[in-house]
Order: sequence, then C-alpha cells, then structure tokens
Amino acid sequence: MPFEFSFSADQEAFREAVRAFLEREVRPVVTAMDESETFPEASVRKMRSEGYFGVPIPEEYGGLGLGKVGYCILLEELGKVDASHGAIVGAHTSLGTTPLHSYGTEAQRKRWLVPAARGEKLLAFSLTEPGSGSDSGAVHTVAEKDGEDWVLTGTKIYVTNGREADAVIVMAANDVKKGASGGVTAFVLDKGTPGFTVGRCEKKMGLHGTSTAELVLDHVRVGPEHVLHEVGKGFHVAMTALDVGRVSLGAASLGGMEAACTEALTFAQNRTQFGLPISEYEAIQFKLADMAMRVHALRLMVYHAAADQDRLGPDPANWSRLERATKTREAAVVKCLASEWAGEVIDEALQIHGGLGYIRGTPVERAYRDARISQIFEGTNEIQRVVIARDLLGRGL
Ligand SMILES: Cc1cc2nc3c(=O)[nH]c(=O)nc-3n(C[C@H](O)[C@H](O)[C@H](O)COP(=O)(O)OP(=O)(O)OC[C@H]3O[C@@H](n4cnc5c(N)ncnc54)[C@H](O)[C@@H]3O)c2cc1C
Repeated sequence: MPFEFSFSADQEAFREAVRAFLEREVRPVVTAMDESETFPEASVRKMRSEGYFGVPIPEEYGGLGLGKVGYCILLEELGKVDASHGAIVGAHTSLGTTPLHSYGTEAQRKRWLVPAARGEKLLAFSLTEPGSGSDSGAVHTVAEKDGEDWVLTGTKIYVTNGREADAVIVMAANDVKKGASGGVTAFVLDKGTPGFTVGRCEKKMGLHGTSTAELVLDHVRVGPEHVLHEVGKGFHVAMTALDVGRVSLGAASLGGMEAACTEALTFAQNRTQFGLPISEYEAIQFKLADMAMRVHALRLMVYHAAADQDRLGPDPANWSRLERATKTREAAVVKCLASEWAGEVIDEALQIHGGLGYIRGTPVERAYRDARISQIFEGTNEIQRVVIARDLLGRGL
C-alpha cells in the first residue's frame, strides 16, 4: 500500500465550499432538529441540490466524481457540524449509491443511480431483521420466484432513511438454508410498490434527525430487473457497501472528534477556576493532548483507507482476493478505532466542560449521544474484531 497522501487543490476547494455551506445552511437548524426529533427536510433539500448526495459517483452517473476521498471530506465536515445529517448522507451514499454503481446494470444505474446521485431520489439500505443483526447472513425475509417475478415477504428493522427513502436496497433470502453463501439476494424496491409499507419508527438516544424505520414486505412482487447483481450474491453486495460505509463512518467520527477538541480547548481557555483558566492545569492539558493525538492518528487512517478505495476503483471484478481482504480489514480497523476514539474524545470534551457538558442543548452533549451508535451500526465493534481476527488467522473474509 502506498503511504504518500496529500489533498489536491480541488479537494481543498471542495472542503472550503462544504464548510461554508454547512455553517450557513446546516448549523443553524441542528439544535431545533435535535429537540424536535424531526428529519431536517429543508437543509437536506439544499444539500441534495448542491450535489452532496452523489459525491463519490462519477459525473456520467449524476455525481460530483470526487471519489472516496472527496466523500470522506464531506463526511468529516458533516461530522463537525451534525451527525444526523452525516448519517442521512452516509446511508444514502455508501449503502445506496455505491452498490448500484458497483453492481448495477446500465439500465439499473440509469433508473436508480443517476437520480440518486443527482439528489432527486433518496436511498436506504436494509439488511437487519428482528432475528438477524450481527449474524447478518441469517436473513429470514423470503424472496420466492414466481415465473419471471420475485415475491418478497418479511419484516426489516432499523433502516436509516427508511421513512423518507424513495427506493431501498433490500436483502432477502432466495434460499434460507444457504444463508450468506448463495442464499441472499439484493433487490432494489421502490416505495409505493404494492405490499411495501413503512412500519414503526424508533425513538433513539441520539441521531434525532434520522428515521430508523421498520419496513414491512407483504408479498411485494417485482420483476427480475429489481435484482441487484446475481441471485445469491446479496451478502457480497452488502459487505462491499459496508466496506465503504465503515471508512466514511470513520470520517464522520473524525469530524465529531475535531469539533469536540475545538470546543474543549476554547472552553478550557475561557473557564477560570482557582484564579486561572483551567487550560493551565496539567490534568486538563493532558486530556487535550490525548484527544489531539487520536485526531491526528485517525486522520491518517481515514484518508489512507479512502485513497486505497479510490485506487482500487468501484468494480469488484478488478480486485484481487488480497486487495479485497485488505480493503475489508482496513475498513474494519478504521470503523472500530474511529468509533471508540470518538467515544473517548467526546467523553473527555464533556468532562472538560464540567456541569455545562451535561446540560441538554450544548454541542458536546448532543455529540456524546450521537457518537455512541457508531460502535454499533454498520457492524458492531465486536464484529469488526471478528473480521480482523479472521484475516489474521487466514480464515478468509
Ligand atoms: C440507529 C440505527 C441505525 C441503523 N441503520 C441501519 C440501516 O440503515 N440498515 C440496516 O440494515 N441496519 C441498520 N441498523 C442495524 C445495525 O446494523 C444493527 O443493530 C447491528 O448490526 C447489531 O445488530 P443487533 O442490534 O441485532 O445486535 P446483536 O447482533 O443482537 O448483538 C448484540 C450484542 O452481541 C454481540 N455479538 C453478536 N454476535 C457476536 C459474535 N459472534 N461475537 C462477539 N459478539 C457478538 C454484538 O456485538 C452486540 O454487542 C441500525 C441500527 C441502529 C440502532
């Protein structure tokens, strides 16, 4: 793996544009969004028209063509301002547009990818079920063949963007007995298809701007053009998408950590106790130094992984087994460390704020609630360790 990396002038310009946009259009709505627990419709609409829902997708398919590095820049900046907006973009982009780009036929790309990358349609990704979480190959939603058609029946849960999405990539079992190896197929389902309804939406500890929805499939009939990649290859589709998602989650965590560091530093320099700013006490200085170390290390890891993904390109057919395993392992490392470091750094930032850090509505209090989920979704951190250990033991990924 090459270790040299620097941002191009275009990437720096993109970061500046994103930063200005988020300060103007997103930061002002975040506190009210968090309190009211509502999807931030207006700011998301503006983000969609800026092209921020198709950053890594090539221009020929409606995106900005800025690759995974550009996408991580967006997620890092979003992480500094609001994790909910980051999760909405992440579920749509990593888990929706990426698999359509990597595995879609030209007709599927035209029908679903182009409008999604242009921001005209919102996507979601649905793997989890009541009985299938970490054991994500044990899908029980059934896809039965009926002539040329497929008929899907089952219940999916915890779908980010599930309430608002126009189309959802849904994993269903073409053969329950086979499970992950050959028994799961990816389908693209349009909202409004008869039998496809949104069930309950969960109340959550954080990420109050996102919907986390149940999707009910009651004999949903679709043609073969809704099958993404080959029948029985859905688990593979899901895992490839999650590799992208895990690195971009790392970028979002990086942004959250940077914001927490900035807030803690400013607070420490302005809060006086015992006649001195608390930043003069070594106990506080060491906390700040530990936080800065993690930010520094994570930035290197995130952009190294994103640059590797750009180097490999979007077509899995061009990756060697070793490249695929390295990519999966690297994504697991980034996701796991990023989410745990974000938890630690934001916790320390809250501690530096004293009682104020515990008061509802302060940015560090919201960040603390928002960050916790990163150790759980897109594969729990226990599962990331399973992935890394399997590779270490030569058991394949
Ligand atoms: C806010 C939110 C958004 C989400 N968004 C989506 C989405 O958009 N799409 C989607 O498909 N899913 C989504 N999820 C689901 C999420 O990915 C799962 O919750 C997660 O993978 C864990 O599954 P589980 O909740 O069933 O926990 P379980 O799998 O039941 O795990 C419970 C505990 O057991 C541990 N564990 C399980 N197996 C092992 C093992 N072999 N070794 C060691 N420890 C183990 C886990 O790490 C965990 O600590 C979302 C969840 C939430 C809360």
